[in-house]
Amino acid sequence: MKCMECGSDYLQKHGTLTEHDEYVGEWQVHDVDWLECPACGDVALRGDAAQKSAEARRRKLESLIADYPMKSFVLETEAAELLGVSKQAVNQNRRIQRGFVYCLRRAGRNFYLKESLLQFKETGDGRFPLFEEEGATEAESYIDAEAGALGIEPQKLRVVGGPCREVSASDFDSASISDKQARYEYEESSELQEG
Ligand SMILES: [Zn+2]
Repeated sequence: MKCMECGSDYLQKHGTLTEHDEYVGEWQVHDVDWLECPACGDVALRGDAAQKSAEARRRKLESLIADYPMKSFVLETEAAELLGVSKQAVNQNRRIQRGFVYCLRRAGRNFYLKESLLQFKETGDGRFPLFEEEGATEAESYIDAEAGALGIEPQKLRVVGGPCREVSASDFDSASISDKQARYEYEESSELQEG
């Protein structure tokens, strides 16, 4: 069979398939058959395998949504108010049913993620990346390394969800270290001038 993307011959694969998308990040499907293009990496799943993958993605999606604190969700009545429509209209909205608003079903009720609902109201698509992007992880390890070099707690360098605020010298336990460093540099430059 030829690749649908580039026309090369697919290879038959079996085992654990890792898939990803922009909303949930990576998910894995175990013990499946799939076709993979060696040229462009395109993956084709059929029947059971596609169903298994969709189920694994759904579980990942649900666990990512469930990570939000309870106060981030609204029930149907408030969801309807936010959208300016009736409760029935929320229930019967095709796009909402198809997952364009992040939603958890618990004890027979729908809990809509408010942030997703508001985005849906603006753009008609309330989906956004729910997973921590690799860039963020890299930034975190960078911060850890910087904090380690300064000999302070990483929390003192880490600013969550906003632009960098100004940090006063008293925030740093290591203020005395930079003071010493500054004095050293000053003395060194004075010596040069004297000489
Ligand atoms: Zn291909």
